[in-house]
Amino acid sequence: MDNALRLKYLEAMGIDVWVSRTSAQAGQSLSSPVTVVDNALPAMPTIGDWDALQAEVANCKKCTLCETRTQTVFGTGNKNADWLLIGEAPGQHEDEQGKPFVGNAGHLLTEMIRAMGLMREEVFITNIIKCRPPRNRDPHADEVESCNDYLQRQLAIIQPKIILAVGRIAAQTLLNTDLPLARLRGKVHSLNNTPLVVVYHPAYLLRSLPEKRKAWQDLLLAMQTIKKSED
Ligand code: URA
Ligand code: SF4
Repeated sequence: MDNALRLKYLEAMGIDVWVSRTSAQAGQSLSSPVTVVDNALPAMPTIGDWDALQAEVANCKKCTLCETRTQTVFGTGNKNADWLLIGEAPGQHEDEQGKPFVGNAGHLLTEMIRAMGLMREEVFITNIIKCRPPRNRDPHADEVESCNDYLQRQLAIIQPKIILAVGRIAAQTLLNTDLPLARLRGKVHSLNNTPLVVVYHPAYLLRSLPEKRKAWQDLLLAMQTIKKSED
């Protein structure tokens, strides 16, 4: 992405460039102790588990979304990541490319990640369901249920230090609640003993500029939370 476009996205979020650079430095120091902790884990899952899971998802026919998808969207990034970002479902571009968050909302998500001093490649990004619902409708409960096992296995292998639930549907699904996003953001939840922070969906932010400051607050909360867990 060129600099002008990047600036436009950061501006849309209300992030001044100097803020982004400051946080970039903070982010680097946040992520440095990671390897030590990961190496100390007793039972690192083998690559085989991951590859097998990926192959299983690619061929999955557990729900009817398999009939309309072009391909599954397993997720991309680092499978040893400290950060696991979980969105809702693939849209048209994701379905075409087989990667999560590659449309306009994806560009903003990439900028949100950069604003935290991270690179997209060092986090892992996926969705609660791996196939695109027709016309981007909300996922049905039975589809989420069918796909949940894959997300749980990804979570077990990655063992992230923090989970970001991206948007209302992901947050409500992961936290098993009907509360509105406004009630879910701004606090640290927990999923299988891993801290979980809810952030606005970038597609929503692109439509709703007044929320941009709150979006940055959400990211700051996430950065503070992971820092605390490393202290
Ligand atoms: N929105 C999502 O929630 N996930 C994607 O992968 C793309 C857009
Ligand atoms: Fe399988 Fe999940 Fe796709 Fe349904 S959405 S077919 S459960 S991968």
